[in-house]
Amino acid sequence: MLKMLKTGKIVTDLSKEGQTELILPGGQGGKGNSHFATSTRQAPRFARDGEKGIEKEFILELKLLADVGLLGFPNVGKSTFISKVTSAKPKIADYHFTTLVPNLGVVKGEYGDSFVIADIPGIIEGASEGTGLGLQFLRHIERTRLLLHFLDVSGVEGRNPVEDFKIINEELKKYSEKLATRKQIIVANKIDVIQDNSLLDQVKKIAKDQEIELFKISAVTGEGIKELMKRVSELLKELPKEELIEESEERVVYTLKEDKEEFKVEIIGKDYIVSGPAVERLMGRVNIQDNESMYYFQKQLTELGIEARLKEMGIKEGDSVKMLDWEFEWTE
Ligand code: GDP
Ligand code: MG
Repeated sequence: MLKMLKTGKIVTDLSKEGQTELILPGGQGGKGNSHFATSTRQAPRFARDGEKGIEKEFILELKLLADVGLLGFPNVGKSTFISKVTSAKPKIADYHFTTLVPNLGVVKGEYGDSFVIADIPGIIEGASEGTGLGLQFLRHIERTRLLLHFLDVSGVEGRNPVEDFKIINEELKKYSEKLATRKQIIVANKIDVIQDNSLLDQVKKIAKDQEIELFKISAVTGEGIKELMKRVSELLKELPKEELIEESEERVVYTLKEDKEEFKVEIIGKDYIVSGPAVERLMGRVNIQDNESMYYFQKQLTELGIEARLKEMGIKEGDSVKMLDWEFEWTE
């Protein structure tokens, strides 16, 4: 995703493999001094500098292209799950914020299909305001088609999964309405260590009320994973891909002016002020200290029609010509 630094507007969304886009053309390349070797000028002493290209500032934003994103508070078992179903080897630990970088894993589906799962650092309350880890990672799940919302229903951590579910969905909504409406599946994890069934019951109720599919699993023992992954494969076959690509908001292709003749001459007092792209290009190429370069410069004044224009406008011996911040006296 390429955005303008100034406006934050999307210039282009590079989402296809091998996609290339020309945003800024470069200036015409410089010419080495061999280019200037002629029969009368066998050992040229000057090389012409390249023209200046155009400078603009952009933000290049990386968004992971995963099919499935894992949602959930820290320590609910997302990393354990991804390491079970893919060959990704994320860090798994008992403390929060274990995942500091997004992990991607490729899953070989039950139907010979394959898809990519992204395990992003746990979203915590306030993530959408940037107060916690997560906001910078939320964009990585923007491109996913399906979200697996992990809840710890065991109670071993003393968390309330229903609360967690609400908080995270709130955060999603604040970050992006679009993301908040993405298809979700509730994954009730850690069923191998359930201490109190009431948590699972509460989660089942909220899933029923909101018509969200629910799967019970244990990321550690593997129980329930096969059923869940079958459903994921099925859903991915149905869920559209295209609409996730973002429209360009400001698609500008900057071009260097093709018209090399472009210049203007103004007379102010006795000064002839020559300006315009042609002059800027020319001045960018010449080196005033160098005789050969000055010879080239004079030739260019003729070729670009600047000399003719000056004469037309009545320039006389001794008048002064200004080009950018450079001034010289006109001699016939
Ligand atoms: P994440 O922060 O969501 O990525 O959570 P992790 O995958 O790092 O898991 C946090 C802790 O919970 C680790 O100690 C895991 O071993 C443990 N854990 C994860 N899933 C299960 C599970 O299904 N059953 C049990 N008993 N422990 C789990
Ligand atoms: Mg993790």
